[in-house]
Amino acid sequence: MSSPLLHLDAIDAGYGDFQALFGISLDVAEGELLALVGANGAGKSTLLRTVAGALRPFSGTVRFDGEDVTALPDIHRSRKGIGLVPEGRRLFPSLTVEENLRVGAATGRKGPWDLKKVYEMMPLVADRRTRKAARLSGGEQQAVAIGRALMGNPRLLLLDEVSLGLAPLVVEQLYTALPGIRAEGTTVVLVEQDLTRTFAVADRIACVLEGRVVLTAPAADLTREQVTAAYFGTL
Ligand code: ATP
Repeated sequence: MSSPLLHLDAIDAGYGDFQALFGISLDVAEGELLALVGANGAGKSTLLRTVAGALRPFSGTVRFDGEDVTALPDIHRSRKGIGLVPEGRRLFPSLTVEENLRVGAATGRKGPWDLKKVYEMMPLVADRRTRKAARLSGGEQQAVAIGRALMGNPRLLLLDEVSLGLAPLVVEQLYTALPGIRAEGTTVVLVEQDLTRTFAVADRIACVLEGRVVLTAPAADLTREQVTAAYFGTL
């Protein structure tokens, strides 16, 4: 087997004195879609932040494409191809949609994604290109946040609960974009609360419980009951 694109080894991480992650070891293969599931506060966002470099772990190693990136700040990791769409979108409100998208290209990475391609994939975003981000609905902002991450041509795209608080139709539109993203060879790690959706898109599922990965398996080998049991700690 070729070496994984992302390799986490014995990650302990948290905030100040508070430890949120305990000994997380996890591999993600190139081209794979891994879904992280777990209750609120289980540590999923903390794990994504640790991968993206927004948070330095207390100990343990993050390897990306074979390279130890544990000490690299997030900006350097995005140049290497790690793109995070954080919970809560965080666009620049006074910039237009198109200006926000261009910010994503600051990684300087070449690849399939540019404005044209993002607009093709998400016509809803194209329609709003001259509008200020502050004037978009939550769903539109989420779509722009994903487009902005794609503009950086990531090899690894980290999506943190992108469907949170959105209307079902908008969530549908966002998930419709996923196959196109994967077709470009992009590896995806996503956090999603909806199990039906998780099973529909994931190659593999990792269940996080109180800061530990308690179950990892191909989605096809798992039942909803197993994932639910892992979620509640009754496995
Ligand atoms: P959610 O779905 O609620 O975002 P999660 O699984 O993503 O849940 P995290 O956000 O990673 O969980 O939180 C893990 C733990 O770390 C929780 O106990 C949370 O309260 C704590 N935590 C998260 N962010 C911070 C922070 N900035 N400072 C202090 N503690 C934090």
